[in-house]
Amino acid sequence: MLKLKKIYKSFGDLQVLNGVNLEVKQGEVKAIIGPSGTGKSTLLRCINYLEKPDEGEIILDQLQLNAKTITKKEIYELRKSTAMVFQSFNLFKNKTVLENIIESLVLIKKVEKNKAIEVGMDILKKVGLEEKKNVYPAKLSGGQQQRVAIGRALAINPKVILFDEPTSSLDPELVGEVLELIKKLAKENMTMVIVTHEMSFAKEVADKVAFMDDGKVIQEGTSEELFSSVTNPRISKFISRLS
Ligand code: ATP
Ligand code: MG
Repeated sequence: MLKLKKIYKSFGDLQVLNGVNLEVKQGEVKAIIGPSGTGKSTLLRCINYLEKPDEGEIILDQLQLNAKTITKKEIYELRKSTAMVFQSFNLFKNKTVLENIIESLVLIKKVEKNKAIEVGMDILKKVGLEEKKNVYPAKLSGGQQQRVAIGRALAINPKVILFDEPTSSLDPELVGEVLELIKKLAKENMTMVIVTHEMSFAKEVADKVAFMDDGKVIQEGTSEELFSSVTNPRISKFISRLS
């Protein structure tokens, strides 16, 4: 289970996260939605300490990390159990598809090369890119690149995968293959936090949807609860703008 308690983060004078509380159960898919600039990406980055929160606690199963006292070793432990998938893929351009996928296994998890390749091939099967194993990212479509990025996330066998708008930079015809893969992972009970602007996808795949505004989660519920009985004017304004 992942639990965030009162996460605060500011950049200079700009208070971006304002005491975020969030709980994600084992096997749960949580979508985070909300207006631009409300701190959704910052929150995801704080979950695996790509950005260090100013205050607050992150609890991931037996790891209990307090921003005030966290150590390098704890950050390393946290990163071993959390994986991030970005809008812009962020693949290693000079590495093949298979090398991209096994990189963290070999470097971080110290898995022996042959074993890593075995795991990597299983993952390539799962993301449907076996025949592309020796190809470099530049030769792949955006959807394929994002599936490699998801494969790379899966390689460390994370407790949770954090997605930051995984389909936003894709051409519309390539969005489906990435969403299908995420749906497949959801069926396999992968715990996932997904920042998304795809409301239909949030409705379809997320167990719970959290709405963020002004650096806080201001409402949370199943998609039906959040979309059908909107009482908060900021949320209804946001949703009406999308449709
Ligand atoms: P979007 O929906 O547009 O992706 P978001 O909810 O993900 O928005 P963030 O990217 O978390 O929003 O940004 C929240 C605020 O923090 C913005 O005002 C942004 O300019 C600011 N911000 C984010 N990262 C930094 C940084 N490294 N330094 C300074 N300000 C930052
Ligand atoms: Mg963002």
